Amino acid sequence: MEPMICKKDMGCRREVTVGRYLDPFDGFREKEAAFEIRRDEITGVTSRILPYRLKVPQKPDVQTYIDRSPEALCPFCPGLFEKITPRFTPDLVAEGKFKHGMALLFPNAFPYDRYNTVVRFSPQHYVPLPELTPELTLDGFLVCRDYFRRMVELHPELRYCSINWNYMPPAGGGLLHPHIQTVIGETPTRFMQGLCDSAGRYRESEGGNLWEDFIAYEKEQGERFIADTGAVTWLAAFAPKGMAGEVSFFFRERRSIFALTEGDFIELLTGLSRIFAYLEKSNFISFNLALYATIQENDILRVQGKLVPRFVILPLGTSDLNYFEKLHDEIICPVMPEDLCRDLKPWFQD
Ligand SMILES: [Zn+2]
Repeated sequence: MEPMICKKDMGCRREVTVGRYLDPFDGFREKEAAFEIRRDEITGVTSRILPYRLKVPQKPDVQTYIDRSPEALCPFCPGLFEKITPRFTPDLVAEGKFKHGMALLFPNAFPYDRYNTVVRFSPQHYVPLPELTPELTLDGFLVCRDYFRRMVELHPELRYCSINWNYMPPAGGGLLHPHIQTVIGETPTRFMQGLCDSAGRYRESEGGNLWEDFIAYEKEQGERFIADTGAVTWLAAFAPKGMAGEVSFFFRERRSIFALTEGDFIELLTGLSRIFAYLEKSNFISFNLALYATIQENDILRVQGKLVPRFVILPLGTSDLNYFEKLHDEIICPVMPEDLCRDLKPWFQD
């Protein structure tokens, strides 16, 4: 049997299926609508790619969100922040919070994991997408690294970490005030475990490094390769995890979270700010992001991450999640990844 991920197609599988109906707008003549079911054997994601192009026709009214979330009631704004955000015990950090420049990191009051923290980038309450520049976000990512370093000193058994971002309510952001979250643990999440397993299986069957071969494959294919910027490769995901597509990014040579230099973080955040500018122009106001990494140097998981734009469909505020994604674990995506790549490329050219 052929291995699930082989050099030939790097586990990118697709089949075309046709739906038929009698079209009321064309005298009820039979119409065919072809779509692709894509399976990415590396990530385990299945997406149904619809050939028409999703456009968000109008930008949601951000002012409504701001009106409903005044600074005076915001737990992350100066005033309440000092009073009601949790602190660490002094044995972890004497000051109760980790601080890097203007960013502060503290325990999540609603933890999802044994070690789950929140980072406030700055005192600024609402930061629109185009203002999420490396100047604003860098300290926030560096304070995560400081915290991970301290945690590993105290708990050398920790193995996996992630930095995660729900920006704005359509992406599950519970507060307008921009913040990210970290998770660090001995075991990875199910998705991270899947990435590691894929790389392990690939090494056994093909004898190479999955991430190196996959990036080389995508560059050769050319249709989803957006750009290389410094240590980072940017791709449109073959089988996206979101209805508006997905951008994947890879630190080609970085084998642990601590291998990332400050310059690497700046490179990442500069690339993200290019994507934010594109999202802004395309009427998006929201996204999810995750950065996955191991603590120890290893050859299984190159540091990598994903960004998925999120939206609600007006006028009803219809969710971009549906039964297919929630209950069948497959994503309906009316955006061709190859089109997303083509759209994003100019934003990566100076
Ligand atoms: Zn605030």
